[in-house]
Amino acid sequence: MPRPIVASIDLSALASNLTVIRGFAPGVHIWSVVKANAYGHGLQRIWSSLAGTDGFALLDLNEAVMLREQGWQGPILLLEGFFKPEDLTLIDTYRLTTAVHSDWQIDAIGRHRFSAPVDIYVKLNSGMNRLGFAAEHWPAAAAALASLEQTGHLTLMTHFAHADMPEGVAQQEAVVEKAGRDWQGPRCLANSAATLLYPQTHHQWVRPGIILYGASPSGDWNDIANTGLRPVMTLKSELIAIQDIQAGDRVGYGGRFQASGRQRIGVVACGYADGYPRHAPTGTPIVVDGVRTRTLGAISMDMLAVDLTPCPLARIGSPVELWGNQVKIDEVARSAGTLGYELMCAVAPRVPVSFGQY
Ligand SMILES: *Cc1c(COP(=O)(O)O)cnc(C)c1O
Repeated sequence: MPRPIVASIDLSALASNLTVIRGFAPGVHIWSVVKANAYGHGLQRIWSSLAGTDGFALLDLNEAVMLREQGWQGPILLLEGFFKPEDLTLIDTYRLTTAVHSDWQIDAIGRHRFSAPVDIYVKLNSGMNRLGFAAEHWPAAAAALASLEQTGHLTLMTHFAHADMPEGVAQQEAVVEKAGRDWQGPRCLANSAATLLYPQTHHQWVRPGIILYGASPSGDWNDIANTGLRPVMTLKSELIAIQDIQAGDRVGYGGRFQASGRQRIGVVACGYADGYPRHAPTGTPIVVDGVRTRTLGAISMDMLAVDLTPCPLARIGSPVELWGNQVKIDEVARSAGTLGYELMCAVAPRVPVSFGQY
């Protein structure tokens, strides 16, 4: 028997989340963001559940090629553009839309021979200072691209740094207004948080990622609890041992948890080598046998300990939900000082994945 851990992917929740997102942005085109192997969910197996999308956005040329070869005929957007001029050959062959964020990319496109014009997202740096042309330079970059015979459709693109936080998007929107004052073409600005919170940023295309997978862009599940979005991934395992411990006994590496009285603890087949966060402290929520309880002590490489005080019926083989519908990935992430984004992407290759309805 393999270890009992499994990441279960609910494809109906994925499709349903896309429908929920359409409700937030009616009449707007949706790029479903599936970078990083669909946020750790397994792009190859999940994309067809999102076939109602208008396009897929990702970074990796290999993932783009895989989508085409699997039969996706709609648009594919390379969010970071291309990394070397020779990438343009694949972009042309597989009819990919590419972001352009630097002058060298404009030169490379101008020198490349395409079989058909290439659609381009011209990236504006509106304040995140990662990728993109400065507002003063953006109109010239867009004009330079527009003058090339290689260029197909052009779209103004920018990325928000804190749409999920109180600062919102106003400052960056002002930069977009400045750069795009004379721009009549389409715009694509909104990530998940802006898709939910700022309809004025929707324009022609939105780019939701994390909400497709049913987690919160802010890291707080309460922020999306009433949207109808559903968790797509459930990480589950089983109890593989039970210990009865006494007052003063300690649990796990470093003895970080010490019992104050007699209690029963369970040992779960899941550790940081599976992608569970090593920094999750005692008290991180977890569900055993359908009952919410808490982790105890340090997370080991392959195991972790749980408090069985609220679960008197639990026995070896009882089911454990590390995250999913009963305990949200956002809650675990928050307890460990990270975000659902990181936990999803970090599920280890050794964890078997099952697809279907939960
Ligand atoms: C990852 C990413 C997104 C999606 O972000 P979410 O917060 O997951 O919605 C959108 N646009 C760009 C450029 C990205 O890199």
